[in-house]
Amino acid sequence: MKGENNLFTSIIEYLTHKSAPYLLTWGVIVVIFIGVLDYKTGYEIDFSIFYLLPIAFVVWFANRNDGVFISVISAVTEFEADFLAGRIYSHPLILVWNSAMLLGFFLLSVFILSALKTEYKRRIKLIDELQDTVSELKRTEEELKQRSQALARSNAELEQFASAASHDLKEPLLAITIDLKLLKKRYKGKLDSEADKFIADTIDEAIQMQTLINDMLSYARVGTGGKSFILTDCNAVLNRSLANLKIPLEQSGAVVTHDPLPEVMADPIQLGQLLQNLMSNAIKFRREEKPSIHISALRKEKEWVFSVSDNGIGIPSEYSAEIFEIFQRLHNKKEYPGTGIGLATCKKIVERHGGHIWVESEPGKGSTFYFTISEKPDSL
Ligand code: ADP
Repeated sequence: MKGENNLFTSIIEYLTHKSAPYLLTWGVIVVIFIGVLDYKTGYEIDFSIFYLLPIAFVVWFANRNDGVFISVISAVTEFEADFLAGRIYSHPLILVWNSAMLLGFFLLSVFILSALKTEYKRRIKLIDELQDTVSELKRTEEELKQRSQALARSNAELEQFASAASHDLKEPLLAITIDLKLLKKRYKGKLDSEADKFIADTIDEAIQMQTLINDMLSYARVGTGGKSFILTDCNAVLNRSLANLKIPLEQSGAVVTHDPLPEVMADPIQLGQLLQNLMSNAIKFRREEKPSIHISALRKEKEWVFSVSDNGIGIPSEYSAEIFEIFQRLHNKKEYPGTGIGLATCKKIVERHGGHIWVESEPGKGSTFYFTISEKPDSL
């Protein structure tokens, strides 16, 4: 079967590479051959239909005009074969009529076949184009895959670099801060008042830098230092975060309430960090009145939607996406201290858990931060 197929393909290939005059010559030879057969068998067997073979052959592999030419030759040959064979008709013009009808039939076949050929070629072209598009798409997909792998690699390297750099910066900065504090303690009032101010400002800046490095370190470590997911009781996680926030909670007089929280598959340390960041923002971005924070969780299909709402200053809706980008802040450091890393870290944590985070807020009234944790994250 395979061999036949190959032979057939080779013939087609051979024919399609031959020039039109070459094919036409073959067509004429076959027509003459059929004519001879027709003449030889004259009265008994009618070979007229066989002329369609060379006609179809020429139309398909050469062109329509050559097909018309072969049709005329075929009709004439048939006429001559019948004439020479001495067929007897009741009227001499019947022979001419028959040949004219045959020519009409051949020409009709030529036009039908030629139309079929055009349609066939159009479809083949369409299929080729489709195949090209598919290959192009496959190539693009492969390229995208490679690029995203390269991006993931470079992201991981960058995270490791940031993590290592922040870690290495931490120690000397701590030493500098301690020295500066010693300097302040020993020389306060002994130098002039300007020197005292310089020292105090430098201590503040060193402390700010420590906060920045710590925040960068926690941001970088979401990806590199995350623990595997375990069944986590969110009530226990929340209590730990509240304990960590004891001082700011007491100082601000904040009231924190919560609904019963579920158990989810998560990295408990990161989940605690997430709740802590959101609650500390709720305390930081408060209005005159005491902060009131409420935490709840709602089951929605295959995920839990957590919410942390506050009665703080709120966020204009045009910034509701921007605030999750690293270093994006809506206020200067004098108004509200901070590094602009907290929400970016929250986003990274939520995404590591297969969820997403967003905010709904009304300036001057308060904000609600939502995040989802899927029931069973993919990495399990
Ligand atoms: P930081 O708190 O260090 O400024 P974040 O990334 O935590 O950085 O927050 C980014 C910005 O989003 C904040 O500077 C603040 O303008 C806004 N924001 C975050 N949380 C709240 C909130 N609960 N209420 C009002 N604004 C908020």
